[in-house]
Amino acid sequence: MTIYTPPLRDMQFVMHEVLNVTADLQQIPKHADMDADTINAVLEEGGKFAAEVLLPINRSGDEEHCVLNTSTHEVTTPTGFKAAYQQYVAAGWAALACDAEFGGQGLPLIVNQCFYEMMNSTNQAWAMYPGLTHGAYAALHAHGTPEQQATYLPKMTSGEWTGTMCLTEPHCGTDLGLMRSKAEPQADGSYKITGTKIFISAGEHDLSDNIVHLVLARLPDAPPGIKGVSLFIVPKFLVNADGSLGARNSVFASRLEHKMGIKASATAQIELEGAVGTLVGQPNKGMQAMFVMMNAARLGVGNQSLGLTEVAFQNALIYAKERIQMRSLSGVKAKDQAADPIIVHPDVRKMLLTARAYAEGGRALMCFSSMLLEKEHNHPDEKVRKESGELLALLTPIVKAFITDNGHIATNACMQVFGGHGFIRDNGMEQFVRDNRINMIYEGTNTIQSLDLLGRKVLGNQGATLKKFGKLIGALVAEEGVNEKMAEFITPIAILGDQMTKFTTEIGFKGFQNPDEVGAAAVDYLRVAGHLVFGYFWARMAQVALRQIAAGSTDPFYTAKLQTARFYFAKLFPETATLMRTARTGSKVLMDTDAALA
Ligand SMILES: Cc1cc2nc3c(=O)[nH]c(=O)nc-3n(C[C@H](O)[C@H](O)[C@H](O)COP(=O)(O)OP(=O)(O)OC[C@H]3O[C@@H](n4cnc5c(N)ncnc54)[C@H](O)[C@@H]3O)c2cc1C
Repeated sequence: MTIYTPPLRDMQFVMHEVLNVTADLQQIPKHADMDADTINAVLEEGGKFAAEVLLPINRSGDEEHCVLNTSTHEVTTPTGFKAAYQQYVAAGWAALACDAEFGGQGLPLIVNQCFYEMMNSTNQAWAMYPGLTHGAYAALHAHGTPEQQATYLPKMTSGEWTGTMCLTEPHCGTDLGLMRSKAEPQADGSYKITGTKIFISAGEHDLSDNIVHLVLARLPDAPPGIKGVSLFIVPKFLVNADGSLGARNSVFASRLEHKMGIKASATAQIELEGAVGTLVGQPNKGMQAMFVMMNAARLGVGNQSLGLTEVAFQNALIYAKERIQMRSLSGVKAKDQAADPIIVHPDVRKMLLTARAYAEGGRALMCFSSMLLEKEHNHPDEKVRKESGELLALLTPIVKAFITDNGHIATNACMQVFGGHGFIRDNGMEQFVRDNRINMIYEGTNTIQSLDLLGRKVLGNQGATLKKFGKLIGALVAEEGVNEKMAEFITPIAILGDQMTKFTTEIGFKGFQNPDEVGAAAVDYLRVAGHLVFGYFWARMAQVALRQIAAGSTDPFYTAKLQTARFYFAKLFPETATLMRTARTGSKVLMDTDAALA
């Protein structure tokens, strides 16, 4: 039986003490009255929903899976999933950060993000059903016609209808330019879509009245490749002019995948047999509209691993204090017991602190990124909107790949804390490892994220956006450079920041002569960049903790924060040196290996 305590104190620390989000939010007209108490109160309730409603059906959902009825093509979700969804809708959680114009509560995106972190901790598989709806909502909000928005957004806001993203086909995953699904224009302005989509999360289920599929397909005269892909809304049930549900559309689930993890999330093969759809945005510009959803989903996937890292840490910590094995190397610690609790052993501590440092660093980055998204869309100053969007574009692949890779390291470490008791199913730890594994794969594998970061976002603009992040580090160095107590946190990021400039130029130069050099360095590069970003947030968190302690606070929260920061810089951050070294060994040792791979 796993436990979960919503990390409200840490969320409040990041939001109100480190990032001071209410000051930023108050500059945005629709959040002018927002205050910390409102945010905290909503998250407290959200934490109860996650811990009391979702956690109890996490394990049972994993064991029960979803079931497809091949005659009716209907999918039944595991016991309790539908009731939990009804509770979620009735309590208004679906509408939390949606626009008031469409019936939403209009709360800041950061509130929704923290709420989702808690749902991901307690039941990632369940959270995917409403989670994808937010991405589909964002794509239609940005690119739908007023009529499409009026038809779909209020129902998606209320949670009565859910959304999907239908990109992948059997022969086309990473390379969406290979897509074959077809869209035939009809006399009435609609389209008939035909094709097979695979691996569609929440592609069919029994939680909502309708499912709004966002489908990529090609028009008859479309140019080849990615530039010939258009986006369509294909609802499971057609929608009548008065908004009521009409005929069943010819879009069906023909198969459910059996998977390593997130077993209660329905991963469906979807057949489109002349299904009726309407075009979203411009013909052949489908990727532009779909990227709104993909970017939202990439942040969401990082948040999934953050949730799993946190819950794995909480459970491993309790276990490490209770489980007694062997004596401490430095002498008996628990004299009244036959052995010491395993938390006395250095390596057990290392595993626990690794998870803690990755969870808390990840939370800071997630919250910062949510605020950038908020500012990009809603800030009144155009310059702030533009700069926020650019910085978020740089950070998105880091959120997606670095947090999910860290989630893999952390959930495995926490399972290891349990020894054999982590490997067996009873303690729930192996489910966290299994559920996290997909996060490194979908929404563009982590390799693809690293190519996006290095190729497009860094070298694509000669490092201009990276320099903008460098300015944040520069400001912190200027502020704290003479503070001796901050030196242990500031010096490493200042040094790495300088090294990154040279490192990036070097790869850029080699890549100019041979593009495989970029492909060979990208994964290492993203991890170095991830540490630079985490290092910056850990330094800022240490700064707040030091100030509180200097002001006389004896709250152990700040001592813990400082100790975790020290651990992070001592034991995790230094891997950047090895990563830069391996990246520099280049592509030759990979590409001249035909004999080895024969
Ligand atoms: C549980 C689950 C849920 C999913 N949900 C959805 C969904 O809701 N909607 C949807 O449309 N899709 C979904 N997917 C599909 C998912 O996004 C793809 O599986 C993923 O994008 C990778 O595509 P692929 O599996 O075809 O792998 P491939 O594209 O065949 O890649 C295979 C390997 O080659 C590597 N590779 C490919 N190209 C390059 C390159 N240029 N450079 C370096 N390495 C490269 C990849 O990184 C990977 O390691 C889901 C998948 C799963 C398993």
